[in-house]
Amino acid sequence: MRGSPVTREVGRTTRDLRRHNRTSVLTRLYLHGPASRFDLMKATGLSSATVSNVVTDLVADGLVAEAGLLDSDGGRPRTLLEVRPGYAQVVGVDIGETHVQVGLFDWTLDTVATATYPMDEGRPDPAVLAELVRAGIEEVTAKAGADPAALLGVGVGVPGAVLPDGLVHAPTLGWSDVPFDMLLRPHVPAPLHLDNCARTLGQAEMWRGAGRGAQRAIVGLLAVGVGAAVATGSPGGVTSTTSEWGHTVVEAGGALCRCGSHGCLEAYVGADAILERYGRLAGLPAPAGSGRRSGRGADTEARLAALVAESGRPGPAADTVRATAEYLGIGIANLINLLGPDRVILSGWVSAAMGPAMLPAVRDATRRHTLDYLGERTVLELGRLGPEQVALGAATLPVHGLLTAGGR
Ligand SMILES: [Zn+2]
Repeated sequence: MRGSPVTREVGRTTRDLRRHNRTSVLTRLYLHGPASRFDLMKATGLSSATVSNVVTDLVADGLVAEAGLLDSDGGRPRTLLEVRPGYAQVVGVDIGETHVQVGLFDWTLDTVATATYPMDEGRPDPAVLAELVRAGIEEVTAKAGADPAALLGVGVGVPGAVLPDGLVHAPTLGWSDVPFDMLLRPHVPAPLHLDNCARTLGQAEMWRGAGRGAQRAIVGLLAVGVGAAVATGSPGGVTSTTSEWGHTVVEAGGALCRCGSHGCLEAYVGADAILERYGRLAGLPAPAGSGRRSGRGADTEARLAALVAESGRPGPAADTVRATAEYLGIGIANLINLLGPDRVILSGWVSAAMGPAMLPAVRDATRRHTLDYLGERTVLELGRLGPEQVALGAATLPVHGLLTAGGR
């Protein structure tokens, strides 16, 4: 019998079904935390016997462990199950606008170690960045005493589009059709996953941040470049797709954007655009090296922090915050009117720096530009992930692969 086409087909189908059942149970525990076998049965729709078998397998594989007892009304206490953080470690890499950050995380995304390297402003050489990624993986695994070859995978987030053949198109880096995937592969000791950083950040906000529990969330990434991910949550997991939100037009014939078009959102709410506006309003001399690509240097961050500190009193800084909030509100309202999300989350380092000062004005502008019935059911919030947010987002890529494969 062994080897006949029919048997092979049946074998494959049985394997697919088992993988699907493992994915359902594991994803439920991973995204929603401890649960009893009974909870898992209700959440996945699987039979009691199937849940029992799958849990036994997952415990034997070291992915899941028992986590104490839960009193149930009148009945005997139920055993809680949870994913085991120690099962595996992953690396997430943030190819930023002027830095590379490498983070080592356990597979539940708690940070173990990080390393950050500045990179050349202007047009960074992809081969040099690939070398920084290698150095970063060596540094974080050495800090933690981890074996690089035992990593579950390495996720890399880039500020641009990753085409199906691994070519990267990233205007903020001055890259067009760069074979970054191929350049990175020899430097990475574990399976490599490459994707757009707005999409991976969106996935991380849905799993561990402000997007938890949302049905359809839009996660905006505010940095020098501006992007957004549309993330959809379902009992089976989260999917997110990226969008070129920064290059949607908010003013006809408006400011010149780095993409060559005029009036793009990014030309008003990207970090460079905000600082240029502030400089203009305050009559400051243009800083040395400024231009369409000043990027996220320590200097850019310090200037933005100074602007925020100054914005509490009337003046050019407050005017800059107000104008930025207005354009951002228009951009967000366009997304809400187009896609009807239940949550919009502002993430990225510019959002972390300016968000608290700007949020009330952004909410006000968004409300004024959104259709009432859509605006009423949309919550606008700031992201809740820490300074390693983009690296953490990239780390979701290998974990997503593990969940989809049923933990194998
Ligand atoms: Zn543009």
